[in-house]
Amino acid sequence: MRVRDTLTERKVRVAGPGRGRKPVTLYVCGVTPYDSGHMGHAFTFSVFDVLVRYLESKGTRVKYVQNVTDIDDPLFERARRDGVDWRILADRETQVHIRDMTVLGWRAPDRMPRVSDEIQRILAAVNRLHASGHAYKTDALYFDVATYRGYGKLSHRSRRSMLRKLRDEGLLGTVGPDGKRQALDFPLWRGSAPDEPSWPSKFGAGRPGWHIECSAMAMRYLGDQIDIHGGGRDLEFSHHESERAQSESLTGKRPFARAWVHTGMVRYEGRKMSKSLGNLVKVSHALNRAPAAAVRLYLISHKYGRDWDFTWSGLARYARLVERLRALLAHSAQRGRRTGPGAALMREFDAALCDDLDIPRAVRALRRALREGDAAAVRKMLDVLVGTAALS
Ligand code: ZN
Repeated sequence: MRVRDTLTERKVRVAGPGRGRKPVTLYVCGVTPYDSGHMGHAFTFSVFDVLVRYLESKGTRVKYVQNVTDIDDPLFERARRDGVDWRILADRETQVHIRDMTVLGWRAPDRMPRVSDEIQRILAAVNRLHASGHAYKTDALYFDVATYRGYGKLSHRSRRSMLRKLRDEGLLGTVGPDGKRQALDFPLWRGSAPDEPSWPSKFGAGRPGWHIECSAMAMRYLGDQIDIHGGGRDLEFSHHESERAQSESLTGKRPFARAWVHTGMVRYEGRKMSKSLGNLVKVSHALNRAPAAAVRLYLISHKYGRDWDFTWSGLARYARLVERLRALLAHSAQRGRRTGPGAALMREFDAALCDDLDIPRAVRALRRALREGDAAAVRKMLDVLVGTAALS
């Protein structure tokens, strides 16, 4: 199987003959638990679920880690705004995320580490970066981007474009003797506000920066180099760019990830679905209108790397498709006659997913299986495409 790597812009082989029994290692950046899951999240995690289920259906073992970013600015800001303890907010929203994805039929990650449980590992990584000259301390401990060659290569951005995005996101900080040496540097360890959690360290009491959290967790559970690192396209810069710089600086091993795989953004009514714009369509809203399998099939019927528009009429089309699939399976169960799936159909299905996870093409194979009344093929394809999501 090949997937397109954001860094090299080439298709990279991630599974197939010659790997022996080594599992494919997958790290996907998970949620910051302060707002229950919306379609953008569900799209990303459903796409990676198809990847996992497809590889496992072919007998390839997958080791899948997805973190929970429960130490991060947006979570603390929301807790402050709502007058709720950050731990209670994080627990509640993590449960919403897991519940949504369970209903959407995912094969749960093997591990879902929480940042707040990983502080000692993160500090160890921070200490090593400091000891090896990749970090400096002023008002916080910063990663010195000048010590890493190739910052900006992953996201294919110029320095100007990186600075613009940092400014837009309010992450630019201050350059000067009491701040950053240069604007692209980012915090590894920083002081906490009085209502934020704080841990002792030799750089002062405080908490980790966002990017180092994922480097430390990915390496702890999957090793110094991983096969596939995934997440939404909005994480390419600065999160993944910074994760890559830190991780490769820590180990001296390149590449940190053999393939960086990014999912597109989901728009609603012409604009990117986001908390700040207040145009989120939540998974629970969609589940009120359509069976879980329809929600999931609708999400994954879009090419994973592209942006797309969520529409209720689009979801309704997949609800009708799922109803026809359900009827075919019910009818074939009644007849009780079992035959194997059509070989040509399954070949087409496999070829689609093998080639950079072309799920829209795989869904076309599913429709063909439906037209041909091949219940066995439909069943096999649904196992991969919708997992355990209910058809009704
Ligand atoms: Zn991450």
